[in-house]
Amino acid sequence: MEMETAKETKCPKCNSTEGQMKKGFTGAGSQRRFCNKCKHKYTPNPKKWAYTEEERRQALRLLLSGNSGRGVGKALGMSRSNAYRWAAEEGEKIPRDVDKRKHRP
Ligand SMILES: [Zn+2]
Repeated sequence: MEMETAKETKCPKCNSTEGQMKKGFTGAGSQRRFCNKCKHKYTPNPKKWAYTEEERRQALRLLLSGNSGRGVGKALGMSRSNAYRWAAEEGEKIPRDVDKRKHRP
């Protein structure tokens, strides 16, 4: 995995600003960091999810492939507003009125 320095972040464990590496992403798309000094792995801006990364990833995937929020909620056992919120926080453009206006040819 490619690692590069990121000086703008600070290790939450040892408070060092040196040797902070980028190390992949979480399922929600948050940048993961790795402290080269104390070997601590962390996420600078963690999102407060109540669900696992895999569940969120699945919800987003379903939404983005055209499923309604209600359908996603049903499939994953969560509220559709959750699914929409995740998508919104990911910066994805999900049509919010997809459930209300069902266009049937
Ligand atoms: Zn550290």
